[in-house]
Amino acid sequence: ALQKNASNKKIYHHTKKFYSKTEKYIHLTYNERKQFISDIAKQIASWGFTRLFAECIDKTKFNNSKTKQTVNEQAFEQLISRFEQYLQIISKAKDQKLYGLLVHDNNETVSKKLTQTMKEFHKKGTIWTNINNIIETPLFVDSELTGMIQLADVCGYALRRFCENGEKTLYDHIIKRADRKKNRIVGVRHFTDKTICTCDICSNR
Ligand SMILES: [Zn+2]
Repeated sequence: ALQKNASNKKIYHHTKKFYSKTEKYIHLTYNERKQFISDIAKQIASWGFTRLFAECIDKTKFNNSKTKQTVNEQAFEQLISRFEQYLQIISKAKDQKLYGLLVHDNNETVSKKLTQTMKEFHKKGTIWTNINNIIETPLFVDSELTGMIQLADVCGYALRRFCENGEKTLYDHIIKRADRKKNRIVGVRHFTDKTICTCDICSNR
């Protein structure tokens, strides 16, 4: 339709030229973006002071009649327990009580629920531990304004690509920061219905 008359023909060529340029630009940006994410993952891997805690749940295999919890509730309770236990261990090692604080990306649908759950954990503990070192309820922030949330998102993305597609490019970097005990991964868990999973996470736990 653009080629109907002379002036439209001009628009057509201009548009075509314009898009042929953006095509190249989009292509480069995509690669640059991929490179950038990879650089971030590498950077995270180099930070020896960071510890990664994660619960990777295969939602299709998740049976909540068995666990009596939703995916999010299980993930939250697991993360809280591992972070708390980590804080207790390093506090003991340093002979000084160290505190932890949770920063969560703001999500209206979960913020109230997680605040309530955290209050319960403070009172009664999780199924694994009492909460002595994590203070407060989670702080909910705008992830666009909070760099650390974006770094956590890169880790989440890397774990997801690994668990769902077996992609190791980003995973191999960030998994170096998984909390470990005697060289076994304790901070990250892969939750499937398989009795034996042979993935990198499961075989290093
Ligand atoms: Zn696994």
